[in-house]
Amino acid sequence: MGKVAVGVAVIGTAAVVAAAALLVRQRMKSSGRWACARALVKEFEEKCGTPDARLKQIADALTVEMHAGLASEGGSKLKMLISYVDNLPTGDEEGIFYALDLGGTNFRVLRVELGGRERGVVHQEFAEASIPPALMSGSSDALFDYIAEKLAAFVADEERIYEQPAGKERELGFTFSFPVMQNSINSGTLIRWTKGFSIDDAVGQDVVVEITKALKRKGVDMRVAALVNDTIGTLAGGRHSNPDVSVAVILGTGSNAAYVERAQAIPKWHGPLPKSGEMAINMEWGNFRSSHLPLTEYDSAMDAESLNPGEQIFEKLISGMYLGEVLRRVLLRLAEETCFFGDEVPAKLKSPFILRTPEMSAMHHDTSADLKVVDDKLRSILEISHTSLKKRRVVVELCDITASRGARLAAAGIFGVLKKTGKDVVKDNGEKTIIAMDGGLFEHYTEYRKCLEKTVFELLGDTTGSSVVFQHYNDGSGIGAALLAASHSLYLEEKL
Ligand code: ADP
Ligand code: MG
Repeated sequence: MGKVAVGVAVIGTAAVVAAAALLVRQRMKSSGRWACARALVKEFEEKCGTPDARLKQIADALTVEMHAGLASEGGSKLKMLISYVDNLPTGDEEGIFYALDLGGTNFRVLRVELGGRERGVVHQEFAEASIPPALMSGSSDALFDYIAEKLAAFVADEERIYEQPAGKERELGFTFSFPVMQNSINSGTLIRWTKGFSIDDAVGQDVVVEITKALKRKGVDMRVAALVNDTIGTLAGGRHSNPDVSVAVILGTGSNAAYVERAQAIPKWHGPLPKSGEMAINMEWGNFRSSHLPLTEYDSAMDAESLNPGEQIFEKLISGMYLGEVLRRVLLRLAEETCFFGDEVPAKLKSPFILRTPEMSAMHHDTSADLKVVDDKLRSILEISHTSLKKRRVVVELCDITASRGARLAAAGIFGVLKKTGKDVVKDNGEKTIIAMDGGLFEHYTEYRKCLEKTVFELLGDTTGSSVVFQHYNDGSGIGAALLAASHSLYLEEKL
């Protein structure tokens, strides 16, 4: 063999050895990466842990905060707002009532015909419109004029069918789902805007005065009989169809709860004791926080980067706006630290809020053998292709960890409210407690809903558990406001 030939042979051998070494390294790396990924998932799961004992501590902490919030204004992170609704619908309401539901970028106007105990809600109609973005940061008059105009058109359309009796004003329930300091059942000043609205001259104004003026400008003769938010509206809607409803929970983009409290148990209430002895309380429970809440570094980072850092911590753990975002953050970490989706971190995965809760829920509910839905969603939303079945299973597992934590915490919240009202112990008289539920998360995220219901049952124990019923009241916020207009009608006395 000549010198040249030897040289080639040596190089050849070296190349083979190097390639083999690379292969081994890659194999080691990929099994090492998988181990790292598993460790990361396991750590997340542990930090999200919600054993029953912890949920009970959370429920107790919530109860303590409820007491503090009821004792004095500003006594707790839980505002425990007095709604002035001391007259929940009984089912006897009759007549035609209107409702306006403004809680985000869409608003609705409704007309509801109530037929009393026998006939209930005889008829309802609604029209929906979106708020043009320009009006969300314009002037107060411009926004309320726009809303009044839509209501005027809706009323004019119906005028021929439903003639308003002479001398009687039409009555309206206004669901206004922004923070309001309520002064009476039909007055309240706007504390601040949320959900992308910023109309400076409306802050500090009485919302009812503003909408009433706008209605006058548009030639509509209408009296605002009740000003409420969506949670109180849902409580009213629930109570109208069943007197055993005493709690309402919204699980949608955000989360909130309302319940019926004994007026005597509200130290900060200085008004006359209502005849019913009851008062609906708007908890604003999204702002609850406690050292017992299982917060992870993903939650802390999401909170720090949010528009309202340090606020709405409970909401950020349980509601629809945030579940998908927490999942995205965990997936991003997996991608960055374990090359979970290949050597490059998928660019889309770095985009906040790109993974929405409905998509997460679709992946979580994927029952196909090869997790086709997970594959589709990863491709279409995150531009991640060619994932192995094993990896898709991890994605589903993460959906489950995140959603279960949210659902179990929401359950602890409900358990806390039941404790506060003494409904955590079953009465001998076979009394039922019905919880009125609304919101897209509860309605559509089946795994979340099932986990929530199961956990409440677990926390209550078999006997009491079976006396608590969850009832979905679709659109309580709209009909509820109309029902509250009815139960707080100016013309009630005339009927008696
Ligand atoms: P909002 O809370 O904005 O008044 P909804 O009560 O309709 O409106 O709730 C909408 C929210 O519900 C969405 O932001 C989303 O988080 C959640 N949601 C809607 N559809 C689904 C779904 N299929 N699966 C899981 N969550 C959903
Ligand atoms: Mg809503």
